[in-house]
Amino acid sequence: MPETLKRLIDIIAFLPWIGEKTAIKLAFFLLKANSAYVKNFSKILQDVQNEIIECSSCHGMTDRSNHLCKICSDETRDNSILCIVEDYLDMLSIERVGIYRWRYHVLGWSISPIQWTMPKDLTITHLFERVRSDVLIHEMILATNPNIEWEATSLYIRENIPRKNLHISRLSKGLPHAGSIEYADEITLLNAFKGRG
Ligand SMILES: [Zn+2]
Repeated sequence: MPETLKRLIDIIAFLPWIGEKTAIKLAFFLLKANSAYVKNFSKILQDVQNEIIECSSCHGMTDRSNHLCKICSDETRDNSILCIVEDYLDMLSIERVGIYRWRYHVLGWSISPIQWTMPKDLTITHLFERVRSDVLIHEMILATNPNIEWEATSLYIRENIPRKNLHISRLSKGLPHAGSIEYADEITLLNAFKGRG
């Protein structure tokens, strides 16, 4: 096999969820694809690295040209509910349900005593600032996944939140225990939010 082709297969196989057989199929697909497609593919890969930045409000993702993402800059959104998620993929999954018009805050990582991820590494400090300064926020939904790290994170937020009159809710236990928001179907998510308390 040509060395360059082998390098292509290896770099595709490095991607998560892709086994060697799939990597070979994709490499051959790219090898035979028309050059305009391949050029565009490679440009988009570079753009993604250069042009996407963290939203300065919710810590989701936005284009470099807008420091606020589409949700944060949408003035028709409900300012009274702040939905706290672990990562941007969870935010996208909840948005896919299509009926929630609230705002978000992406934490980034969980507090893990094992991996020594502590609050300073999360966006919790900024979350507390948002809650302290934005009196329109009346409810904070902890839409975090059901595992030990996120239980610890939720507890930390509850105990240290700077506004005591804030209603803090969390998802009902409807999510599959080992599963996550990212993989839950829309009906399951809908029920989990409906049953929050
Ligand atoms: Zn945002």
